[in-house]
Amino acid sequence: IQATPSSGAGAPIALSYELFPPRNEAAAASLWDTIGELECTNPDYVAVTYGANGSNRDTAMDLLNRILTETSLRPLAHLTCVGSTADELAEVISELLDHGVRGILALRGDLPKNAPAEPRAGKLEYAQDLIELIRRVEQRRSALLCAGKVAIGVAAYPTRHPESPSVEHDVEVLLAKQRSGADFAITQVFFHASQYKDLVTRARRAGVSIPIIPGVMPLTSLRRVQRLGDLTGVAPSDSLLDALGRADNAAESRRIGVAATVDLARDALDAGAPGIHLYTFNEHAAALDVLDKLQLLRPGRPLVGRRLGAGAQLVQA
Ligand code: FAD
Repeated sequence: IQATPSSGAGAPIALSYELFPPRNEAAAASLWDTIGELECTNPDYVAVTYGANGSNRDTAMDLLNRILTETSLRPLAHLTCVGSTADELAEVISELLDHGVRGILALRGDLPKNAPAEPRAGKLEYAQDLIELIRRVEQRRSALLCAGKVAIGVAAYPTRHPESPSVEHDVEVLLAKQRSGADFAITQVFFHASQYKDLVTRARRAGVSIPIIPGVMPLTSLRRVQRLGDLTGVAPSDSLLDALGRADNAAESRRIGVAATVDLARDALDAGAPGIHLYTFNEHAAALDVLDKLQLLRPGRPLVGRRLGAGAQLVQA
């Protein structure tokens, strides 16, 4: 196992990337270039997003399958429960396990804008319900998993979730997700490291002990930052918006954005973050630039992976 830089406390820093299933062939070709580049950095896992309501189930499954069969990477499959019944989701979970997926990010998904007034019978309401379902399916499929365990991740929010009454309520929800069987959390994007630090402080005080990994996105264009703010409800900082708005060209904008992202990630790591999860937008250049400046790029050739079940590390051939 190659040594990885540590956050100062001696523990290696976990490294992961988020990808989304490609929408067409050109996007797929470009994504596979990106996957090749990211694989060389020997990440702990790559996360594959899933549309709310299973809208991209087939393309997500295809991408997960190809990652499992054609690369040394370990995938983390996002799964959303909004609008789906327990039976439908149990089928998807079984399919993931059959394909060899051993990590699932259990999410509710965003509520559809025109949600029917009458909820479907048997549908799951919260991510917590999905965690419990995954654990039940895991138990039923224990023969398939041998001694392995499915690693379950969940979402955490440095700024209040848009539907939540308070950040304290968010932490109660995180604690409930831990009690239901979550192993780790990845945060929503944030623009000030203090928001991440405050979340961790609140969570630890409330009894949350699972790792909380900061989700960081390369903030390389004004358009992207504004869109991100709209999508997540997390307000970007005025200083970043000003700086990106003043940039004369794309290269200057990217330089400013990478520097801001590096500062954000470094502050989170200095505060004790156990890793960095990079939202890549299926592009590797800015993500690798950020990691390079953080001195987090793992040197050497890609590791040839042998999956030994959840929790096992990739082993160098
Ligand atoms: P939950 O934890 O269920 O929370 C949803 C809301 O319900 C919150 O306001 C919470 O406070 C409240 N709540 C939860 N439990 C209870 C309870 N027991 N009682 C009362 N209130 C409760 N979306 C996608 O569609 N696809 C993806 O692939 C995807 N990936 C993501 C990855 C990360 C790292 C993050 C942070 C978000 C991702 N999202 C994704 C977005 C996510 O689905 C939305 O933020 C969604 O609105 C909430 O999902 P959740 O899992 O946090 O839900």
